[in-house]
Amino acid sequence: MIKCLLLFSGGLDSILAAKILEKQKIKIIPICFQSYFFNCNLAKRSAKSLGLKLKVVDFSKEHLQIVKSPKYGRGKGMNPCLDCRLLMLKTAKQFAKLRRNKFNLLATGEVLGERPFSQNINALKLIEKEANLKGLILRPLSAKVLPETIYEKKGIVKREQLFNISGKSRKSQLSLVKKFKIKEFPQPASGCILTDSEYSKKLRELFRKVPDCNGNDCQILRKGRVFWQGKVLFIVARNEKECYELKKLGKKKDLILEPKNFPGPTVLIRSFSRKMEKNILEKARNLLLKYSKKIPKNPEINVI
Ligand code: SF4
Repeated sequence: MIKCLLLFSGGLDSILAAKILEKQKIKIIPICFQSYFFNCNLAKRSAKSLGLKLKVVDFSKEHLQIVKSPKYGRGKGMNPCLDCRLLMLKTAKQFAKLRRNKFNLLATGEVLGERPFSQNINALKLIEKEANLKGLILRPLSAKVLPETIYEKKGIVKREQLFNISGKSRKSQLSLVKKFKIKEFPQPASGCILTDSEYSKKLRELFRKVPDCNGNDCQILRKGRVFWQGKVLFIVARNEKECYELKKLGKKKDLILEPKNFPGPTVLIRSFSRKMEKNILEKARNLLLKYSKKIPKNPEINVI
């Protein structure tokens, strides 16, 4: 049986790619990647609903490197989509090799022109060339508007049963949903925090101040309001969940402030400075009080 390693985000395009190839009696092995900036939760749900066994690969460390210094630039936020797709394909190729090439083909749910930055014809060609996968990436949704792959030439896949979808409109995909009788599918939404403009601002600032920051530093920026004093980072939780998450992500050297006799947010202090910065406790205390609703006359604050 022909086996396909399919890059699988769990979004509609990747679900359709799986369905199109299954129609040709190809066995699908979906692969999903997780990093500090996105996870595989959607892919897990979609794979389960399709009855597919998902392979999850954590490439957080390698991905952080390309987020810090992408070779091919970024989208509107801090998203280095071209480098990211390239890393996914290289990692998938490596994954296939480690399993002694038990796969006959490699496919993605990409649609030509759907994302102007990373899915235009030049970007697709560049990714194939850089990953050393020329003619070896099948994109079932757009195959007929792309050069023939080796799989089609060899007859492993029937080109006439592939599609010619291009552009941002979802019309063709929705008609395929009907054709394949797909009952449930996720709405288009980026599960990648790097496309979020607010988060991107915070991350840019972190990279500027602390070029050698690690994954935990990047993740903690998502857990509240962010303030800086020199090289000291303050995070103020916005709700109960963030209070809990801040403490969970906190490192040994971090300081945590919590209100004792009144309701208010948890504040985390993380210093990236070698010297002791002045007044950091006072600043954290002021932030905690600023974002508390009912402050008693004598507010008591725990420092952990
Ligand atoms: S949006 Fe995020 S996950 Fe998707 S390609 Fe771009 S950087 Fe990678």
